[in-house]
Amino acid sequence: MSFFIFFVIHWYSSLFFQSVFHHRYAAHSQFTMSKGWEKFFFIGCFLTQGSSYISAKAYGLLHRLHHAHTDTPEDPHSPSYSKNIGTLLLMTRNSYNDIYQGHTVVDKAYHKNLPDWVSFDKFAHNWIARVVWGAVYVGIYFLVVTEWWMWLFFTYYICIRCCTWFSY
Ligand SMILES: [Zn+2]
Repeated sequence: MSFFIFFVIHWYSSLFFQSVFHHRYAAHSQFTMSKGWEKFFFIGCFLTQGSSYISAKAYGLLHRLHHAHTDTPEDPHSPSYSKNIGTLLLMTRNSYNDIYQGHTVVDKAYHKNLPDWVSFDKFAHNWIARVVWGAVYVGIYFLVVTEWWMWLFFTYYICIRCCTWFSY
């Protein structure tokens, strides 16, 4: 029972922070919040998304470009320009990384009202944090898993989370 409680809480809490902060707030500016609340959401994203943490600023730019150029060659993640789900995810990952690392320079018009906490992104985004989170997940699963097939949820979570982050 504790396995399912953990899985549902982890799934929906990470989805909540991604949907509210990355998608609706950062990318679409659908509402405003104070800098203090922004920091709360940055930290909430890190705690709930762990090893799949992404920068709200880079995601916001990526998603704004997606909406501005939907299903054209300039769309950073278009199924119309991908052979399959694997190449779509790879294209999205590469587009995101190029924006985050500054290899893709995005026009100033797309930068309006993006949340940006550079030092926190550097801390939460690096490979050490990802490896530590991965170890934490494995440790939690060892604690709550009682049947072998429950590990399939671990694999499922990792795969689906990678897809859903960029599919909004
Ligand atoms: Zn959107």
